[in-house]
Amino acid sequence: MVQVNGPVDVVVVGGGVIGSAAAWRLAARGRSVVLLEQFGPGHRRGASHGTSRIYRQAYEDDFHTTLAGRALPLWRAAEKLAGTRVLTLTGAVDHGHPVCTLARAKTLATLGIAHEVLDPAEAEKRWPGMRFDTSVLFHPAAGRLHADRSVQVLKDAAQRAGAEVRHRAAVREIHGAATGVEVVTDTGVVRARHAVLAAGAWTRSLLASTSIAPTPVLPPLRTTQEQPAHFVPVIDAEWPSFVHHPGAELAGEGIYGLGSESGIKIGEHGTGPVVHPDTRDFRADPDGVQRLADYASVWLPGVDASTAVADTCLYTSTPDSRFVVDRLGDVTVAAGFSGHGFKFAPAVGDLVAGLAAGDVRSPEPFRFGPRAAVVA
Ligand SMILES: Cc1cc2nc3c(=O)[nH]c(=O)nc-3n(C[C@H](O)[C@H](O)[C@H](O)COP(=O)(O)OP(=O)(O)OC[C@H]3O[C@@H](n4cnc5c(N)ncnc54)[C@H](O)[C@@H]3O)c2cc1C
Repeated sequence: MVQVNGPVDVVVVGGGVIGSAAAWRLAARGRSVVLLEQFGPGHRRGASHGTSRIYRQAYEDDFHTTLAGRALPLWRAAEKLAGTRVLTLTGAVDHGHPVCTLARAKTLATLGIAHEVLDPAEAEKRWPGMRFDTSVLFHPAAGRLHADRSVQVLKDAAQRAGAEVRHRAAVREIHGAATGVEVVTDTGVVRARHAVLAAGAWTRSLLASTSIAPTPVLPPLRTTQEQPAHFVPVIDAEWPSFVHHPGAELAGEGIYGLGSESGIKIGEHGTGPVVHPDTRDFRADPDGVQRLADYASVWLPGVDASTAVADTCLYTSTPDSRFVVDRLGDVTVAAGFSGHGFKFAPAVGDLVAGLAAGDVRSPEPFRFGPRAAVVA
């Protein structure tokens, strides 16, 4: 017999970092919430698993910098509710092409966010595990999030606020109904006044199996399999999170990195092959791993460059790397986090809660509709 639940105020589809944060912020506003996740807790098939993500505020534009700043007290509030620390402030550095570092320094200055600019020799003294080519932008209100624990902390916070979290509950279809939506899973139907789709790389296929009107028009979403690697540190040093922007001594796409309990992680940003989330092979490309080892041997004297251990993870990217967080009728979509969404999750969750309540409009950069590709 098909079980019918509800109606609840909001059903959230997807229990990655974004859906978990949305469930928390919705429940914190007193909404009745059911979160449906197709896989088990801590699964590694999406974008939110592992031991580390960079938290940083230095973006080129005020909008992202402000949004990242808004996320910080919310991360702290979620930690407090769950009784677990997930965000460690180590500070972050940007180095490489001066156009990139200067633009970020300007934004931080405009918004009154503490930062300093060091010359390469000073920076190497402070972070002896790293080598620097140009002047270095440092801001202290940055660091690393433990990814797996962060997702768990957000789910705990959601549950404490009254949300119901169901794992192994794949959503097959969503229908429009007289009073909202009917969300069909293998075990039953959940009726809700509003649906939040936070389905990561599965967002397009989920939307394709919905019969809701009007249907949101998303920008193109490109799913790629990315492969950061961890290296064993060989010196006892502080490791800030970092972005090495290409264009000075560094060619290619640039490198991000940070310390973590799994070692020193580095990765290229968005260079992996296009994949389907259900049929990808989870195998790291040896050429890509070699490029990371080559980078480490030149730029990271504090690691053993022969110790790379790679992992794979999904990016779901929009053409301009700006997220899609917008509402149409009874559906809010939060997708296209373009390889940099983790840090913002609780602030995005707040935005989702505001959209679902009808209190706010989506900010212009996150709206539905086509996007122009960013030319590097
Ligand atoms: C290698 C790598 C490094 C990164 N580094 C950083 C970083 O340093 N800093 C940063 O801010 N960001 C970083 N990111 C980006 C960040 O991790 C992602 O933007 C974020 O995790 C996206 O979360 P999500 O919830 O949208 O997607 P996901 O985590 O993929 O969650 C979507 C969930 O929806 C579920 N789902 C899908 N369809 C259904 C369905 N039909 N029914 C039920 N459940 C469904 C899926 O199973 C999945 O759990 C990185 C990403 C990668 C891959």
